[in-house]
Amino acid sequence: MSRADRLAALLEGRGLHQLLVAAPVNLRYVTGFCGSNGLALVGAERRTFVTDFRYVEQAAAQVPDFDRVRGEQDLLEALVAALPADGVLRLGFDDEHTSVRAHARLRAALPEHVELVPSGGLVEELRAVKEPAELDAIRAAAALADEIYEWVLERGLVGRTEREVAVELEHELRRRGAEGPSFPSIVASGAHGALPHAEPRAVEIPSGVLVTIDLGARLDGYCSDCTRTFATGPLAGDGEAIYALVLEAQEAALAALAPGKTGAQVDAVARDLIVAAGHGEHFGHGLGHGVGLEVHERPRLATTATAELDAGNVVTVEPGVYVPGDCGVRIEDLVIVTEAGHELVSHFPKTLSTVL
Ligand code: ZN
Ligand code: ZN
Repeated sequence: MSRADRLAALLEGRGLHQLLVAAPVNLRYVTGFCGSNGLALVGAERRTFVTDFRYVEQAAAQVPDFDRVRGEQDLLEALVAALPADGVLRLGFDDEHTSVRAHARLRAALPEHVELVPSGGLVEELRAVKEPAELDAIRAAAALADEIYEWVLERGLVGRTEREVAVELEHELRRRGAEGPSFPSIVASGAHGALPHAEPRAVEIPSGVLVTIDLGARLDGYCSDCTRTFATGPLAGDGEAIYALVLEAQEAALAALAPGKTGAQVDAVARDLIVAAGHGEHFGHGLGHGVGLEVHERPRLATTATAELDAGNVVTVEPGVYVPGDCGVRIEDLVIVTEAGHELVSHFPKTLSTVL
């Protein structure tokens, strides 16, 4: 079944006749279109794709299975013209990604027989379970991130600024074929590492501290995401003990991954160990998130994540301990949930290594 067919089957379960797909990433997933201006209507029988003159040829190549309509740059008029002229039509729209203003415009443009039904998350639900080709793309993006860690280590860290390391590694990602990083890289040393989303600073990395590096590659549209924490020499304080705790929590959570478990159950495996060691308040984020066309997508591993995992989900497992004013450790792998448990796709070693 094509993605559009699977989406149509989901619509039927919700009593929807058609779904309006507008978010570029969802449009790409459902139709294959990679341009910047398009809309799709997906139903059991009718599949309509609307774009403007700039993308007519691209759409012919990328969206062969849809009826294609050329609209003005503002596609709304052509979209309305493509809808059936009468009969009640329950049209789903993505209420998670539609502004109040866009919704008002849409409502005003649609004839009365069209009922707009909030239906956010349907395409995301499909995207959460990856197809074999998507898994291959993610494996390749993860392998590229692994290579970049090797490269970073060979070049060393001490005496270079966080910003230099971040900028250069992103350049190297592109040089090796990535479309770019899948998110702004994090390089955070010493006490700065206690901020989970630290921005790289124009500050030289000293010796004798922990350095957290979080990076990902975007390759053929698919993302990877991996974090390693290194030492730049013998550590004062309990950095090594914290590292050992985070690694233990990370490996325990990996071992707990399985279809049918909820994101909350897997999160708890790591969190319980960290809480028991007295660092509960220092682990302020969820355990992980789905990765695919976007670097943050479904499913989530977090205390509030009640959805069950499925084979084919791709998630990060990334516990961290952040001690304000002192140091931070995060260890993050990208993994595929499989029938048997999980397949690791990040392969860079996790033993604490010293990099000068
Ligand atoms: Zn990350
Ligand atoms: Zn992540």
